[in-house]
Amino acid sequence: MIEPDDVDRLRASLRAIVGDANVLTGDDAAAHEIDWRRRYHGRALAVVRPGSTEDVAAVVRACAAVAGISIVPQGGNTGLVGGGVPDDTGRQVVLSLARMNRVRAIDADTLTLTVEAGAVLEAVQAAAADAGLLFPLSLAAEGSCTIGGNLATNAGGTQVLRYGTARELCLGLEVVTAAGEVWSALRGLRKDNTGYDLRDLFVGSEGTLGVITAATLKVFPTPRAVVTAWVATPSLETALALMRRVRQAFDAELTAFEAMGAFALALTAARFPDLAAPLPAGSTAGWQVLLELSSPHDEVLLVPQAERVLADALEAGEIVDASLAQTIAQARTMWHWRESIPLAQSAEGLNIKHDIGVPTSAMPAFVREADAALDALCPGARHVTFGHLGDGNLHYNLQAPRGEDGEAFLARFEPGVNRVVYDLVSRFGGTISAEHGVGQLKRDELLERQSPVALEMMRRIRRALDPAGLFNPGRVVDAGG
Ligand SMILES: Cc1cc2nc3c(=O)[nH]c(=O)nc-3n(C[C@H](O)[C@H](O)[C@H](O)COP(=O)(O)OP(=O)(O)OC[C@H]3O[C@@H](n4cnc5c(N)ncnc54)[C@H](O)[C@@H]3O)c2cc1C
Repeated sequence: MIEPDDVDRLRASLRAIVGDANVLTGDDAAAHEIDWRRRYHGRALAVVRPGSTEDVAAVVRACAAVAGISIVPQGGNTGLVGGGVPDDTGRQVVLSLARMNRVRAIDADTLTLTVEAGAVLEAVQAAAADAGLLFPLSLAAEGSCTIGGNLATNAGGTQVLRYGTARELCLGLEVVTAAGEVWSALRGLRKDNTGYDLRDLFVGSEGTLGVITAATLKVFPTPRAVVTAWVATPSLETALALMRRVRQAFDAELTAFEAMGAFALALTAARFPDLAAPLPAGSTAGWQVLLELSSPHDEVLLVPQAERVLADALEAGEIVDASLAQTIAQARTMWHWRESIPLAQSAEGLNIKHDIGVPTSAMPAFVREADAALDALCPGARHVTFGHLGDGNLHYNLQAPRGEDGEAFLARFEPGVNRVVYDLVSRFGGTISAEHGVGQLKRDELLERQSPVALEMMRRIRRALDPAGLFNPGRVVDAGG
């Protein structure tokens, strides 16, 4: 039990560390207390906005000194599993990294960029571009999510096929530990075999092991030519045949391969009627694919080759229509379609979300079986299926039948739908969370489905790094349960 005096004293110490203006309470804290999907709504003891790593360490020590207080690290608050918002006890301090957004260094020979954790992803991409380089992590929330949040969730996005997830883009970290110490390993080394890889423990730990305050990231030469194409394909099987063909022709130059189901696009068209159609009207194929090729060579080489490969795919029946973006604006519109799907879905109301991964070759069979099982379980529910087919990762979501209330739909069907989907995922040797993480949303599923040996190792790691359970209790896995 925490006494009101303890709360007042802690708020006073936090103000002394970061300044009055950077300790938010009441209405000022409200935006930090609710998640992007509006599923989790808590009450923070305070939202603290440190300006430096030393501030973060001092905040952690101040919180650790009061029994019963815990810390929820927060970046852009775009997470989709409820990992970055406080619970409703009023005993959690939200540690917002938003003010820590400086670019600390760019090294064009080592090909690294060192930034503070609160830097918004779009700003990190822009900093790399200003230096003539590419930071390839890209996702629809890039205008608000932060690099600290991206690393804490090991974010994926649309370029994983070529460049990997956030983990593969990270060379070094600076972290504040649960003891309030600073571990600084902001080194741009590609090779370093000196003991256990601590960096990889923190990447993907969702704020449960420490606070990431800065990172050294990999950057790449900017491609000279980019081809963006939108194609209509009869089925997921033909989409995979197309991917095989394009990979064979372009290998690592294939940088994105995103698939979108018919209803996902119909919903987006209905919600955003001003979006120009990516294909001439009349293409009603079952699936559409947005693919991107990036090359260090000139466009005059890439474009004709892309046209040839797509013509062959047309002849082979793998696609029924295709359009190559002729201008940067057209390419942007194509990407805008893809990125608008989650926004259209959220505008349509609450839905049952799954971020599943199965071996890419098994994806058509998985979707066929899951669609049939869910149509039998909740007839009329609408399938919003889209995502990173090239990575074997789809957002396999279910929207309430037209006209039905989303909240009532979730209350009635969510547990049964999850069981069907996750049982199938297990049968296909997949994962219940390919890129969004576990947070609060998938914690029980993790406990049920992860191997006992893996769970026990995770608990021991948590006990070792955060023995008092200071960081993000109740998320992912707790030290004791
Ligand atoms: C429209 C939309 C599209 C999206 N598309 C994708 C996608 O394609 N791929 C994908 O992977 N995700 C996607 N996401 C999910 C989300 O954007 C990512 O998970 C993102 O990486 C979260 O970053 P954030 O800064 O918003 O983190 P937050 O939401 O603030 O936090 C997420 C988690 O990380 C922890 N955390 C945050 N900052 C730190 C830190 N500095 N140190 C330690 N822990 C920290 C939090 O405690 C929490 O557990 C999407 C979200 C939206 C809204």
